[in-house]
Amino acid sequence: MRTELLKDVRRLVVKLGTGVLTDGGKQPDPAQMGQLVAQFAALRQAGREIVLVTSGAVGAGMGVLGYEKRPAETCEQQACAAVGQSRLMTIYEKLFSEFGLHVAQVLVTHDDLQDKERHRNARNTLLTLLKRGVVPIINENDAVSITELKFGDNDKLSALVAALLPADLLVILTTVDGVIEHFGKPHARTLASVAVIDKTLEGMAGGTDSATAVGGMKSKIAAARITVRSGIPLVIASGRKKNVLAQILAGAEEGTLFVPQLGQLRGHKRWIAFFHHAKGKVCVDAGAKEALVSRGRSLLPPGVVRCEGEFGVGDVVSICDEDGGEFARGLAGFSAAELQARLQSRDEVVHRDNLVIL
Ligand code: GLU
Repeated sequence: MRTELLKDVRRLVVKLGTGVLTDGGKQPDPAQMGQLVAQFAALRQAGREIVLVTSGAVGAGMGVLGYEKRPAETCEQQACAAVGQSRLMTIYEKLFSEFGLHVAQVLVTHDDLQDKERHRNARNTLLTLLKRGVVPIINENDAVSITELKFGDNDKLSALVAALLPADLLVILTTVDGVIEHFGKPHARTLASVAVIDKTLEGMAGGTDSATAVGGMKSKIAAARITVRSGIPLVIASGRKKNVLAQILAGAEEGTLFVPQLGQLRGHKRWIAFFHHAKGKVCVDAGAKEALVSRGRSLLPPGVVRCEGEFGVGDVVSICDEDGGEFARGLAGFSAAELQARLQSRDEVVHRDNLVIL
């Protein structure tokens, strides 16, 4: 199945975790970065388009500024990120230039991808860089991102970048071999593939207690939800293995493959589904849920049981069942205030063209 799924990959996004790029002393590890860049260069030279999402800025900055553990204060983390980011880019630039390749630093905040026009603009810039043979290296603009409005982690950022382009494959390179069942036990084993992301799988995934990194397996599974729903395969594998990318692309059983759902969501729907901090919640009854999920209908006022938050026309709202469980997202056809006044009308609260079942 892997060979079939990965045989036509032309454009890939690769996410590099902090642990993959830095050594025990939290400094960028040039030998390790060198072996990764050699792999990327080989792919680029073979005609594939490659976009990197790099972590490690905060970690590298901590090394320079002498922090033993991740500072608690946001401004201290941001200072580390600013110092570490330029350090990382200097190394990438030097390593890629040995293969005659140019790199481009692209730092983004959540707002850049949430706003429709800036979203389009970011995409155009990335596509232009790829067309020019450049390797874009993306990170969150940590030095200025505001805590509550951040992407949160680079696993999610990499999934969003894959959905933005869109890419044919996302590879998350980390310090473990993939999703590991019975982690830490003698019968531990790496899952070769995941077809359905369910509670059992989520139960297997922990966070991280690393001093420099954020995320852990939990955030990788959250990222997988985005790629799988977008119709993009994801492989989580070890970034310390030599030639891991070539192996993955050749269809070898490397790491854990998340099998995508059939059919790609269109760009407009990917933007609605994944790129927003929802402005409000619209909870619907079981009949309305069924009409949306199984019959592809628009959401009409009679199905709404309550709504929360202050949203306006065109804002993204989270569509939930009566217990508050989110199952869809959509663009509001009217504001929260208007919705209260129009509960008996037949006007669409969310038109099906602007609605995505998650
Ligand atoms: N943007 C952060 C950094 O460069 C990393 C966030 C993450 O690894 O998830 O340090």
